[in-house]
Amino acid sequence: MPRILTGDTPTSAGLHLGHYVGSLENRLALQESYDCYFLIANVHAFTTMAEKPAEIRANTIAIVKDWLAVGLDPERSTFVLQSEIPAIAELTFLLAMLIPFNKVMRNPTLKTEIEAKGLGETYPFGFPMYAVGQCADILAFRPDLVPVGEDQEAHIELCRDVAMKFNQLYCHVNNRTLEADHVKAGGVFPIPRAKVGRVGRLVGLDGKNKMSKSLGNAIFLYDTEKDVEKKVSKIVTERPTTTSPLPEGNPLAQYIDVFLPSERAEEIKASYAGGKEVLDGHIKKEVAAAINTLLAPMRERRAKLDGPAGEEHVLNVIKQSINRANAVAEETLWMTKRAMGLGFVERRVGV
Ligand code: ATP
Ligand code: MG
Repeated sequence: MPRILTGDTPTSAGLHLGHYVGSLENRLALQESYDCYFLIANVHAFTTMAEKPAEIRANTIAIVKDWLAVGLDPERSTFVLQSEIPAIAELTFLLAMLIPFNKVMRNPTLKTEIEAKGLGETYPFGFPMYAVGQCADILAFRPDLVPVGEDQEAHIELCRDVAMKFNQLYCHVNNRTLEADHVKAGGVFPIPRAKVGRVGRLVGLDGKNKMSKSLGNAIFLYDTEKDVEKKVSKIVTERPTTTSPLPEGNPLAQYIDVFLPSERAEEIKASYAGGKEVLDGHIKKEVAAAINTLLAPMRERRAKLDGPAGEEHVLNVIKQSINRANAVAEETLWMTKRAMGLGFVERRVGV
């Protein structure tokens, strides 16, 4: 089976609608036909919240709960806890030699994050390094496909570049070899492709940034019905009168498109565009109801994971996957080291 690797960073106590439409929906659909690896980047969470280890740990558990609530299946897919996979850290260092420093620093996703998260000049060395680490996260599992949101495309490009460079430099893959033929030609790494979800970038409730766990502009999968209603009702629509059009790029406009059935969405958009009287409050209620219908089954499954028993179940799920994850990542590391002339002693991890 072809492989998938993707993941989430435990920077908040759960996932949001942007994750759902940007990546989780794809994971659910592809879970049937791919060998899937879903990674929790708990080490990378320290790049922006090193002073909050307890929070990162709690968030990690919460995100696995969300995965289970959404329907990711640990029997079919491998859940990967980044901190338990030593090969990833080693690959990070090895791959760093093939990634130009300035290219990382010019990465538009990092630049946006520095600005949006107000990291200023004080972010740690580890922050830009996560872009290199993410290449290792991905390549450790030698996937064909990486289901992500649009904001990750620059990272996937970096990952593809380093995979190609590695295969050419250490595995004698010709620079005219087609991407799809790299492994056949002797390369360690398949060249992975990004697969962006139905909505590549769901805008946040603020209408400025993408919906993001760290920016306080998200509707979380664990939000209550009331939370969702309240959050949607507070969207600023910037219409001077009830017959003015809904400005393009307004979050409500995107949510109408994404969460309402397409016929109803077209009808509402036509009313807004045609100068008809439209009361935003009514539309917001309709959008909130649609979001609540989507979230209802997830809430139900998540509620079953409440309390200490739920937490224990999550820990077991994580543990159960560790050997499977390490087996693949160790195999990759050994292949990588051999290609680099570093293959002296093969080791065993977690067996
Ligand atoms: P942080 O603010 O800490 O970076 P995040 O909300 O961006 O958190 P990540 O864990 O970085 O979440 O992203 C996990 C996955 O979800 C990635 O594939 C990312 O592209 C996707 N994703 C995140 N936010 C959105 C969004 N608003 N729209 C579409 N996809 C998204
Ligand atoms: Mg992010």
